[in-house]
Amino acid sequence: MISVDDALRKVLKAIKVIGKETIALRDSLGRVLAEDIYSDSDIPGFDNSAMDGYALNFTDTTKASVEDPKILEVIEDVKAGDIPKKKLNKLQAIRIMTGAILPKDADAVVMVEVTKKVKIKGKEFVEIYKCAKRNENVRRAGEDIKKGELVLRNGTLLNSAHIGVLASVGKSKVRVARKPMVAILATGNEVIDVNERLTPGKIRSSNSYTLYSQVISAGGIAKNLGIAKDTPSQLINKIKQSLGCDLLITSGGVSVGDYDLVKDILSKLGTNIEFWKVAMRPGKPMVFGLIRGIPVFGLPGNPVSSMVAFEVFVRPAIAKMLNQSAPSRKEAEAILQEDISKKKGLRYFLRGNTTWRNSSYQARTTGPQGSGILKSMAQANSLIILPEEKEVIKKGSKVKVRLLD
Ligand code: AMP
Ligand code: MG
Repeated sequence: MISVDDALRKVLKAIKVIGKETIALRDSLGRVLAEDIYSDSDIPGFDNSAMDGYALNFTDTTKASVEDPKILEVIEDVKAGDIPKKKLNKLQAIRIMTGAILPKDADAVVMVEVTKKVKIKGKEFVEIYKCAKRNENVRRAGEDIKKGELVLRNGTLLNSAHIGVLASVGKSKVRVARKPMVAILATGNEVIDVNERLTPGKIRSSNSYTLYSQVISAGGIAKNLGIAKDTPSQLINKIKQSLGCDLLITSGGVSVGDYDLVKDILSKLGTNIEFWKVAMRPGKPMVFGLIRGIPVFGLPGNPVSSMVAFEVFVRPAIAKMLNQSAPSRKEAEAILQEDISKKKGLRYFLRGNTTWRNSSYQARTTGPQGSGILKSMAQANSLIILPEEKEVIKKGSKVKVRLLD
């Protein structure tokens, strides 16, 4: 039996980075950037005002107060998008709106809230009630991003802020990793699709749906191949349908039962089996190999085992295909809220609820941990990871958790 770490190493070694494509910026949420992005300009592109108010020389406001305001002549009105025309002289101000170009001779902006417009002999003036500091309310050119600066790296999983940065630097189209096409095949004589009639001995194929959605959440395109009965002909037929895909996931039929044919059929079809059975719970009976160069994961049939095995192996594999630089799931340290005993030699992934309380993460299990009990997975927001060598983990111990949302 191979360890989780060795198995993951083998998986990541076997997985190749997928090709790239160019897409519209609008469509790039959740995609992985496949190029380094440099800014084509300074952002902001010019010195501008951070407030609606008056652009002036800060020295003209020295000692200004409500009791003793400074009075400046207003010589121009500059809106966002305008180009200021007037030259600012001593004791003059220019009315300015947020985002408008700062007039050349101005070195501060006083916000409108500490001023009052006044008319003196038909001319426009402003009373300033507060002393300004140099550069106050001024946004300097390039203070956010400099022209030529590396703003986003190849491998970045794009979020809304990244997309905003891409728009700011003029990228209407971006190179991203192509989405891998992932075929999903459920197996089992007892397994039926959701809308089929539930008769004695049959179960609905939840795996077809959990895996489908997990593939999408990992950044792939899911292709449902349906359900194969535990017969060589059906398995061979269905597996062959996956050969145009980038990755194949099967569920069920990889254990040691009389009708667990998946591993043998994969071998017959020329799969290079890299490992079978991993020292973990749930998820032990799983197989990984390459079928004509295409990676194939034979995941266990139990609903939680298949989901956990996906999290542990398939999600990182898809991230590698996408050349994604950071893992999609974050890990944290938490304080265990109950005693747990486990079998030595296996790494456990328990369904957990992790919350932030008293300045630390605290984790507890969500209920029965049988690998068929999907409800406790549905209630979990994390996996509590317990190391191989331990047999008893006491309440209050520090444990690693993988956050699932
Ligand atoms: P197996 O790995 O084929 O021995 O299946 C282990 C357990 O998982 C059995 O109880 C199966 O009925 C169940 N199972 C297998 N495939 C699915 C599936 N697609 N959806 C839900 N449960 C399944
Ligand atoms: Mg089965």
